[in-house]
Amino acid sequence: DGERYADVLDLHGTPAQAYPGDARGNNPITVFADLGAWHAYALPRPTDPQGGFTGPLYLAQEYPWWLSDGLTRLQLTEQGRPLDLTAGAPARGTSLPGLLRLTHDLGGGLALTLDLRFAGNRTALLRARLANTGPAVRTLAAAWTGRLLRPATGPQREAPKLVAAERGVEVRFAKVRQTWDYLTDGTERFAVRHARPVRVVLSADGDGHRTELAEPVRLAPGETRSLDWTESYTFTEAECARAAKEADTALRTPERVAAEGTARWHGYLVRATEGVPAARRRTAAKCVQTLVTNWRSPAGRIRHDAVTPTLSYKWFSGVWAWDTWKQAVGTAAFAPGLAADQIRAVFDHQVPSGSAERPQDAGMVPDCVFYNDQTTGGGNWNERNSKPPLASWAVWEVYRRSGDRAFLREMLPRLTAYRDWWYRTRDHLGEGLCQYGATVDAANATAEDCREAAAWESGMDNAPRFDTSAVVPNRDANGTLLGWSLDQRSVDLNAYLAADHRHLALIAAELGDRPAADRLRAGAERIDAAVRDTMYDPATGWFHDTDLATGARLTARGRGIEGAIPLWSGTATAAQARTVRRLLLDPAEFGTAMPFPTVARSSPSFDPGGYWRGLAWLDQTYFAIEGLRRYGWEQDARRTVERLLATAAGLAGDGPVRENYDPLTGEGHSSTNFSWSAALLLPLLRT
Ligand code: BGC
Repeated sequence: DGERYADVLDLHGTPAQAYPGDARGNNPITVFADLGAWHAYALPRPTDPQGGFTGPLYLAQEYPWWLSDGLTRLQLTEQGRPLDLTAGAPARGTSLPGLLRLTHDLGGGLALTLDLRFAGNRTALLRARLANTGPAVRTLAAAWTGRLLRPATGPQREAPKLVAAERGVEVRFAKVRQTWDYLTDGTERFAVRHARPVRVVLSADGDGHRTELAEPVRLAPGETRSLDWTESYTFTEAECARAAKEADTALRTPERVAAEGTARWHGYLVRATEGVPAARRRTAAKCVQTLVTNWRSPAGRIRHDAVTPTLSYKWFSGVWAWDTWKQAVGTAAFAPGLAADQIRAVFDHQVPSGSAERPQDAGMVPDCVFYNDQTTGGGNWNERNSKPPLASWAVWEVYRRSGDRAFLREMLPRLTAYRDWWYRTRDHLGEGLCQYGATVDAANATAEDCREAAAWESGMDNAPRFDTSAVVPNRDANGTLLGWSLDQRSVDLNAYLAADHRHLALIAAELGDRPAADRLRAGAERIDAAVRDTMYDPATGWFHDTDLATGARLTARGRGIEGAIPLWSGTATAAQARTVRRLLLDPAEFGTAMPFPTVARSSPSFDPGGYWRGLAWLDQTYFAIEGLRRYGWEQDARRTVERLLATAAGLAGDGPVRENYDPLTGEGHSSTNFSWSAALLLPLLRT
């Protein structure tokens, strides 16, 4: 696969400062990580300093920062004379499946190749290969140099400290608790470990190092020699000890690390491109690389391997519920184990029954979890609301790929408790239809807080349908407050819940519980009927949220893409599906150049750059396309995918997968290297 999948993403760049964000918080340099490591690298541009990789980028628990613009750049000297790494040809940096490679031609038959792979979830293995194809014996002295990049302001400025250690340079981190910028415990460490003896000299100001190889490298004509070293980033002392072993193993068997990495990535790509037309396979490989770079292994409160929305945006190194459900479906196609684990990483924080803090929320799945929860000073962790109930779908899709029944057995009680939570705390009238809402939580102090949290619960934070919504309290028979509901029943929520019941039925049946499966299927059909009868508006030909008190369909708020979910869930009648299809394909409605806008062009609030007010998000586009297929419009589905791939900026080339796209132009918006977009593109590429 090597060259076929070379540079599916452009990873070139060298940062000028420690803060990796541009004006919008996005890192313009796309990075590479693997195996869930919490540090990542990029490639120098041809005009940048050569001899080493860009970075590392590391996570200060919840926030990405550049540690250096290149911490271990190799310099070679011969008889005291520095060699020009580009004397023979310009240097070349390439991204390949599972590795980064830099090639240098020094002229005179001397070549230097640098490879970077991950050897474990805390450790990168780097290898410099020196090849002498010239006629003369070469005797080379080698040294690595690099400097820290420091955050510009705040206590984090003083956090990293360079230390000369026995086997290479190290960075120790001071404790900093800047909730919104930088979090360390004072036990974090970045350690370079060389296979051969070295001598580390720090610069006078302490921020730079020169690590010299103790013995020169002698290369006879035709000879090749390697210099190996590891770079490990760890949070705790225990991790540091484990990483030291991980590093030693890698340094003892570097060929095995390379062979295992090659085989693992070969497997990923074979599976991800199965059934994908040849012209789309590089896009599939890009989706895999995007998801793998966003993979974080257990650390802090994150207990299982997880996938974050993106490492490229300041606020997205946490684990979101509905992001995970969608990511897992895409990941299952090439790495079912990682797909299952990311689901576990979310359910690890499901509110247990008998919870002392929020007994009313037993079964609830929090919106998002991070390295820190409230007790350790995290600000990003959020339990003010949940997210749309797509978990059973995700579990079922993972099972379809893995065939692991034990996973179904493990998840069924959790999924059931989550389902029950919705009907206990979000069904204001006890009628079997739910509303998005907010939890009883200190941060949901005012009605506006609750309305905001409820909109977040929908996943569509600023959707116009919630602009003027209010909230109502939900209480149990004793009058105890259980939570809050919006004063509208949402069509997507109830269609998702119908699908949830159907997937639960499939799971129950697979585990041999026929009666439960029958009950669940009947439950799904009851929801279907209610959605069909009360949420479809014959006059507009579209599904809408309904007013809680009057039952009126909220058509004046315009058509939102959520009205297509009853096709994905199989809820709509064939006749209803026909009018939904017509509107999906109508260029004045949802049939834009880049399908599908989250709000129809005909809507008074349509804003093509307005986040959930009109941008095209690939999850909703995926659900609508799958809906078309479900009702038999295979050709419409295929044409929609073709249009999407032709219009979405950068998708066909080496640009990053974006969080969302302008529906009229296809221009990419919001964050870069966004996981759920990559995940759901994978099945779409097969359509
Ligand atoms: C989106 C959510 C999403 C989260 C993480 C938010 O801004 O509106 O739907 O879950 O980002 O990707």
